Amino acid sequence: MYDVLILGGGPAGMTAAIYASRAKLKTLVVAGENWGGQLMTTSLVENFPGFPEGIHGPELMERIKKQAEKFGAEFIYQNFKESDFSKSPFKITAGDKIFEAKTVIIAMGASAKWLKVPGEAEKIGRGVSGCAPCDGPFFKEKDIIVAGGGDCAMEEAIILTRFAKSVTIIHRRDTFKASIHMLNRAKSDPKIKFIVNKQITKILGQEKVEGVEVKDSITGEISQIKTEGIFVAIGHHPNTAGLKGIEFDDQGYVKAEDHIKTNISGVFVAGDIHDCLYQQAITAAGYGCMAALKVEEWLLEK
Ligand code: NDP
Repeated sequence: MYDVLILGGGPAGMTAAIYASRAKLKTLVVAGENWGGQLMTTSLVENFPGFPEGIHGPELMERIKKQAEKFGAEFIYQNFKESDFSKSPFKITAGDKIFEAKTVIIAMGASAKWLKVPGEAEKIGRGVSGCAPCDGPFFKEKDIIVAGGGDCAMEEAIILTRFAKSVTIIHRRDTFKASIHMLNRAKSDPKIKFIVNKQITKILGQEKVEGVEVKDSITGEISQIKTEGIFVAIGHHPNTAGLKGIEFDDQGYVKAEDHIKTNISGVFVAGDIHDCLYQQAITAAGYGCMAALKVEEWLLEK
């Protein structure tokens, strides 16, 4: 029986683990097979406080995990399957085991969205990717495309300039969700070009990517652009599969009261799985801290 079981091993879950285990709560983190969350697929993180030179995402996560281990948090690296929050103690299935806990913090984050156009799914790993730091080196001296108009698209494009001959950002509108800083960084890079008001409607090619079909968002005109690689960076969706009895908002994120309380007493939430607005490592970590402090308070009250 654990005092707190934390679902998710990204910045939110790991920070919650530091606080909970430091408060001497018996803590288990269901970190999953791909623990670490989205920072594991980013390169240099320049805006996490305390690292003026920046720090690579995986290294930051290793350090946060080490800090939680130091205070006695336990980890399992199997994926969360389902929850039973119908009565206390709560039951969590992960891998082929069932764990019991007095409280739970849901911190499973969010995952990248795909375009869901013909030719995309079957070419993932054969020219279609969602992770520039992971797959960029396969596209040395190639002309590649990044889909999206947010910070992620800018970041992916900047990373890819290290490998590619050219990077073209294709965005469906002519204004960008990306921050001015990131947009200017991309715009000032001589290897990056922009195509706006085009929606990618098809990934072309037989075995591997040979191009994309695009539709003009204003005129509806269809045209083709040659490329050997496309990186999709169009946002995220929350990882809520298997959560039973939990209320979600209109966009499918976990509904939270006072930032971290779910509709079930003793079940808390932290990070990108309920925050579709900020989605930063530092805000996720902040929510993880808040959730762990609330767990402590809740257990004391009980
Ligand atoms: P965003 O939601 O900010 O942007 C998604 C982009 O993809 C939008 O431009 C959107 O277009 C476009 N898009 C969505 N769906 C489709 C579709 N089906 N077809 C074509 N285009 C589509 O998500 P991000 O992942 O970029 O960023 C998430 C959060 O993470 C943000 O808060 C961001 O600031 C943060 N972040 C910060 C970084 C940094 O500061 N270094 C780096 C990376 C992320 P439209 O605008 O038309 O809706």
